[in-house]
Order: sequence, then C-alpha cells, then structure tokens
Amino acid sequence: MKIAIIGNPGAKSRRVTAELTEKLLASGHELVQTSPELVISVGGDGTLLNSFHRYSHILDQVRFVGVHTGHLGFYTDWRDFEIEDLVIALKEDSGQSVSYPLLDVRAIYADATSAHYLALNEATLKRLNGTMRTEVYIKGDFFESFRGDGLCVSTPTGSTAYSKSNGGAVIHPRLDALQITEIASINNRVFRTLSSPIITAPDEWVTLEPTGRDDYVMTVDQFVINPPTIKQIRYKIAKERIHFARYRHMHFWDRVEDAFIGAKH
Ligand code: NAD
Repeated sequence: MKIAIIGNPGAKSRRVTAELTEKLLASGHELVQTSPELVISVGGDGTLLNSFHRYSHILDQVRFVGVHTGHLGFYTDWRDFEIEDLVIALKEDSGQSVSYPLLDVRAIYADATSAHYLALNEATLKRLNGTMRTEVYIKGDFFESFRGDGLCVSTPTGSTAYSKSNGGAVIHPRLDALQITEIASINNRVFRTLSSPIITAPDEWVTLEPTGRDDYVMTVDQFVINPPTIKQIRYKIAKERIHFARYRHMHFWDRVEDAFIGAKH
C-alpha cells in the first residue's frame, strides 16, 4: 500500500514516526508524499487536522488513520505503544472504512472575488476589534441579526472541539448535521439572538451577511484567515466526506466519556 506518514515536531512523534517507517517498509509498504492511499497521522487531533488539510484535494482516494502520542484523541484510534498491532492490522487490510461529514465554506467578498474551504472541525467568523454584526439566514430565509464576538459552525466530529466550548451539544458523527453556536452574543432590550445552539438538517445551509467591514476574521480548523470585506459566507454540509480506515471499533460515547469524564479509569 502507498502510505504517507504525517508527524509533528515533538520528540515522541518523531520517535514513533521512525519506528513506524521501519516497520511499514519491512512489511512491504511504499512510503510516499504524493497520492497516498492511506495517511497515518502521528501526534494529536491537531496533527490529524494538518494531515486532513494536506490531502483534502484527494479525499475520494485516501483513508486516514490517527496514532496518538498522548491521550486517546477524537480522530486517533491507536496509541503510540500499539505500532506493532497497527502494522499487523494493515497487513490484513480489506479497505474497511468509516466516513464522516465535512463543512463546506464559500465566502464571497465585496470586490467580487471568492474563496472556498473545507473544514473537518469547524469554521468561525469573528471580529476581535469590536462587535461583530451579521445577518443570519437559514436555507435562504432571514433568521436573526447577530451581535457579539462571533459565530461558529461545526461538523459532528467537530462538536467535541471549539463548538463544545461555546456550549454546543456533542453530536454523534453518524448524523449529517451542522451546528451553529454563538460566541458571546449580545442580548438586551435592543438586540436579541436565539441564544442557544442550532442543529440544521442535511439539506439546509446557513448564510451570514456581515455589515461591510474589513476587520472580520475567519477561522477554518487551525487556520486563521484575514479576508477582504465580506459580502456573504455560506456554510453547508460538503459533498466530500473524510474516510477513516477502521481496523477496530471504538464506541463514540466511550471516546466522549474517556476524553471529558474519565470515570472508568
Ligand atoms: P490545539 O492543538 O491547541 O487544539 C486545541 C484542543 O482541541 C486540543 O486539546 C485538541 O486535542 C482538541 N481538539 C481538536 N479537535 C478536536 C475534536 N474534534 N474533538 C475534541 N477535541 C479536539 O489547536 P490546533 O491544533 O490549532 O487545533 C485547532 C482546533 O482547536 C480547532 O479546530 C478548534 O476546534 C480548537 N479550538 C478550540 C478552542 C476552544 O475550545 N476554546 C479555541 C480555539 C480552537
């Protein structure tokens, strides 16, 4: 199999990458940088996010596997001391995978240019230097006028990341849904937002039309974008999905329990 290994600069990731490289070559795999069939990320959820963005142009050809060098992450099924088991599982690979929804973001700017992004966790629109003001539309219909720090639109797998810190619900990743959470909305006698997270249906999309300022900040997963004046941003479930090679199953709610409660350990 053609495999790419993506690590991070940490000592543990480099040690595990070296061990994995040696074992994969010994069992006849080819290590490549371009057009891999399998991408193994060695690090944390952040390393998996980097791996995803590096290969997001070939999502229909590639499966991902996450090896975690710390605690078990949300995108990582294997621990660093299980390299031997992973190499054995790869030998018996029959193409098994599980896929999850992604977020499609299209921004149209006042100067008539546009930009397109895919997010694995979430995309946000924020204003750091004052109140963000935006009109919010759901499926083309006006919903509310938002004032506050920002809005976050997340995927189901991203629901345990930034979205959760904004008070969002944890969503099972088998659901095709997007969740909008507010970041410090202003609510008083003059301004009013729903003030609770919204979860949209598979055929719905969300459009933001911010007031014409050039100091808004967009984030897409770990990336920070300083766009020109925004006319409109549309968020919908992407037609692309991320595929994870699934050699063993970990119950989603066990993962949530392990990450956030840890009562069983
Ligand atoms: P990072 O490495 O500092 O990540 C922040 C934390 O988010 C880490 O503990 C990471 O394990 C965790 N994380 C990432 N994806 C997750 C997921 N799907 N479920 C549960 N936990 C997850 O920063 P980074 O590497 O630049 O990662 C970017 C991500 O950080 C963003 O996509 C965003 O979700 C998250 N983030 C969170 C907050 C917050 O919770 N207040 C603020 C900014 C960014």
